[in-house]
Amino acid sequence: MSTEPRRVVIFDTTLRDGEQSPGCSMNLEEKLEVAQALVDLGVDVIEAGFPIASPGDFEAVREIARTVRGSTICGLARCNEKDIDRAWEALKDAPDARIHVFLATSAIHREFKLRMDKDEIIARAVEGVKRAKGYCDNIEFSPEDAARTEPDFLSAVVEAAIDAGATTVNIPDTVGYATPSHFASVIKTLMNRVPNIDRAVVSVHCHNDLGLAVANSLSAVEHGAGQIECTINGIGERAGNCSLEEVVMAMRTRSDYYHTTTRINTPRLVPTSRLLTNITGMQVQRNKAIVGRNAFAHEAGIHQDGMLKERTTYEIMRPEDVGFTHTDLVLGKHSGRAALADRAKALGYHLTGEQLQEVFDEFKKLADKKKEVYDADVAALIEKRMNVVEDQWRLAAFEVHAVGGAEPTVSVTLDHGGEQLSRTTTGGDGPLDALFRTIEEITGVSVTVRDFRVHSVTRGKDAQGESTIEVDHNGRICRGRGVSTDTVEAATLAFLNAINRVVAGAGQPVEARPHDVV
Ligand SMILES: [Zn+2]
Repeated sequence: MSTEPRRVVIFDTTLRDGEQSPGCSMNLEEKLEVAQALVDLGVDVIEAGFPIASPGDFEAVREIARTVRGSTICGLARCNEKDIDRAWEALKDAPDARIHVFLATSAIHREFKLRMDKDEIIARAVEGVKRAKGYCDNIEFSPEDAARTEPDFLSAVVEAAIDAGATTVNIPDTVGYATPSHFASVIKTLMNRVPNIDRAVVSVHCHNDLGLAVANSLSAVEHGAGQIECTINGIGERAGNCSLEEVVMAMRTRSDYYHTTTRINTPRLVPTSRLLTNITGMQVQRNKAIVGRNAFAHEAGIHQDGMLKERTTYEIMRPEDVGFTHTDLVLGKHSGRAALADRAKALGYHLTGEQLQEVFDEFKKLADKKKEVYDADVAALIEKRMNVVEDQWRLAAFEVHAVGGAEPTVSVTLDHGGEQLSRTTTGGDGPLDALFRTIEEITGVSVTVRDFRVHSVTRGKDAQGESTIEVDHNGRICRGRGVSTDTVEAATLAFLNAINRVVAGAGQPVEARPHDVV
């Protein structure tokens, strides 16, 4: 038995597969923030987007390729010249780039989607890999819907792709249909039947439709897979992708069994998870493995007793190994800029001197209102600043008169490029409805609210309220968030933020994306 554990490559697709799922779209600045956090986390490959899918995707991949250093930057392309050329155009400035080409191979996709026979599929795959290889050495090929492809044909496609120059062959369970032992047999078959399989890294990309993405990925690793595609918090199409934090900690905690290692700096797992939550507004359930709030909370008396005597009686991982700190560091009125900069960095943010100054000014105002400023408050302030940058409409003032049973009267003043516009209205189902309708009237943008939440960022009566909102504007979904110690103001800011994103042309029109993705 070998003594050195085998290195498994961690390929993160939070910015591609994750970002394309409803409620997770990010703007350019947010994507850059996440990409930098992924480098700090130690992921080997960052799939930054699908350049041909939209101008926004192209720009994000290009900016990440130009500025982010420390991980391989990857772009997705279908198996055709236009897609591959566009992917390379976005990637070409990265010192370490990978083109990821994909083509469906299952019978159902061949017949109904592509209308191509097996020979045509192989020919197209070879052409695609060769074209990509003309641009760079690092090429990944994915036979889409591999888990439902006939084993013989899958082996033939994989062999041809490796011969054409693919250095990684990824086996996606695109529809989340695989089970652990079935998926193991798919990987074993490839390992045994494909004569040139040793010339490429075998990768897996599992979806979580049956809640098995992590289990299937681990099963593949057990049978020789050398790369796992995954996302932070498991975000992704439908039920999501394999969760990075879970699969990494499973391999680490059970290294006795898997005998594998990764380059992941595990104490960055919780901060990275929180950064993504703060950016997308997509909360992680409390009992989520590894990064959920309750993941390390031992409430049962008998467990607590055991923990006090010897923690390993009930604890298989230490909270600090995944980045939970024992104490939430508290900042206050007298904390300086250096202390704030320190917390921002620990939370995963990379702020310029100017950005830090802006956040510091806001922090001082907040510290005057509330005695203790927690990490979550600091994160909320930074996110607030990131959102303000692009805002065309700003909230100058608002007033609410609401008496139980009577129609509310609200006044709103918005600033639009230095010009102030005010309006007073009466009516609506409560003060928030009235505020939202008044903002719609002033801005001339009308939307349908799909989701609306208010929750407290930290504990205590003086806690900041954070509001997240999702609106639909002619089929385009935009998110907004707002933070304030006044929850009505937080909700108003969130709504206005969503309107600003509509105005800025942000958000994903769900139908515009190519449907066939890995
Ligand atoms: Zn996927």
